[in-house]
This record gives sequence, structure tokens and C-alpha cells, in this order.
Amino acid sequence: MVDSINNNESKTYWIIPSRPKYFDLEACFKTYGFVDWRGSFYPNIGDIVYVYLSKPVAGYIKYKCEVINNNLKKSEVVNQKQFFLSEEEKHPKEKVRLRLLKRLNTDDFVKFEKMKELGLKSQIQGPLKKIPAIIINYLESKFNTNGIVDNTIERYNNEAIKQKAIEYSKRMLNKSYVSKTHVYSRNELVSEYVKHRSQGRCDLCDNKAPFEIDNKPYLECHHVLSLSDGGLDTVFNAVALCPNCHRKIHLLKAHNEIVKLKNKILYYSKNEFQENEIEDIKKTLKL
Ligand SMILES: [Zn+2]
Ligand SMILES: [Zn+2]
Repeated sequence: MVDSINNNESKTYWIIPSRPKYFDLEACFKTYGFVDWRGSFYPNIGDIVYVYLSKPVAGYIKYKCEVINNNLKKSEVVNQKQFFLSEEEKHPKEKVRLRLLKRLNTDDFVKFEKMKELGLKSQIQGPLKKIPAIIINYLESKFNTNGIVDNTIERYNNEAIKQKAIEYSKRMLNKSYVSKTHVYSRNELVSEYVKHRSQGRCDLCDNKAPFEIDNKPYLECHHVLSLSDGGLDTVFNAVALCPNCHRKIHLLKAHNEIVKLKNKILYYSKNEFQENEIEDIKKTLKL
């Protein structure tokens, strides 16, 4: 049980509102396992955050999260564009990353009326910090008994690999203009990610991988501009190929196939990079 709320120096409990009409939080959690929070909110790492879904659509608490970052850099913030249901703000400030710990099922949602009954004095219009202990205790026991641990871990890992591979590639994109002669070491993440990105299919012939190893489709990572020719080991210079196509492209170096691969990369890049970065990527691909 929580005895004294928010006046010890350990973790603080928060309730923050999210507007279901405006942002699809469920889809965001399903994709990333976390959300990069918008707006003025200044918790400490390790703080517990209950997310309240606002009325008129909802009016209850469904999620329990943990603050895992409270000083996100711009480059670290994930792309959440697809989760906005109405127009986005012009200058979003995401500083806080909330990792989903547990969710409640419909029957167990903690409604606003219940919290009011327990002594909640105010509406939930912004981050709420001074929460009566009785409410925190109620929420804690509710999530302890009925909370469901999120099962998006598998997905989250793939997403984490994607994020890391793209971030790494972005750094390379910037560096490639500073020093063209620098030799870069092979990055496991890039290879891992491009195989995941092609969803088990060869980026050249579009066929499914010919076999699986450890339940994973077998594909090989190929650099469109070879590393020895100064190509970068990045997601915008790498594709996933079946062994046949991989052999073929190295032996024949067919112009039309190389162009096909470059265009495939551009197609993927639209999900991974900003417009101005895509212009830079085109240059590195000589497109
Ligand atoms: Zn192939
Ligand atoms: Zn190759």
C-alpha cells in the first residue's frame, strides 16, 4: 500500500489525460509499446503514470505506464504521425517517453465517477500530481489484480531495431557529407532491420525467402553501392535479397535491377525519413 503520496523523494504517481478523438493511443502502444508524450509534462524517470482517456468518448483510466525517458532528443522521438486522428500541432514537443506496463479490460476501467467518489476534487484536464492516496491505492490494487501485462514485446523489439537502424543511418547520412572517405564498420542492426523491413520477401524478385532458419525467413543483406566503392552501411543503401538474386546481382550487375533496388529503398525511405533527408538519400544513391 502507498502511505504517503508524492511527498517522498521516490516515485511520483500521475494521472494524465489523453483524448481518444485526437490520438489513437492504443495503436501507438501496439506499434511501439510506448508513447512519446506531447505537451507540458515534467515527471521523473521511474514515475508511474496512469493514462485517463477523456470524455466524451471515454472517461476512464485504462493504462498504467512508467516514465523511461524525460529528456528525449528530437532525433529520438518516434514517428507517431499515423496515430493522429485530427490535425497535428505545428510545433510538437515530445520530451517524455511512457512505456506501457499494464492495461485494463473493459469491465475493469476505472471511471472518473469512481475517482470522484473516492475524493478526486478536480477534472482531469492536464497532468495531475496531487492525487489522494486512497485513489492511488485503488488504482494500484486494480492494476495489480486485473491489469494485463502488455504482449507487444515481440513487435516492440522489431520496432526498436527499426528505430535504432534508422537513427544510426541518419547519423551516417549527416557524416557522409562531412567525410566521404571514412570507412564505416558493418552494423548488425542495419542488416537485421532490412530483412525485417522486406517482410520475408526478396527486394529484387519479390518472392518469399526460399527457407527459414530459426523460424525466420532466410534473406541476405546486400549493399546497393558496395562498401568498397564508398557505399554506406545504412538502411538507405541496403536491401534484403534471396540467395539467388544476391548471387545474380553480384555477377551480372544489371543496371535495371540496380535501379529497381534503389527505387525500392526510396519507397521504404518515405516511412523512415523526412522529406529533406530523402533528397540527401537520393544523392547518395545517385538517383
Ligand atoms: Zn530474389
Ligand atoms: Zn551483396
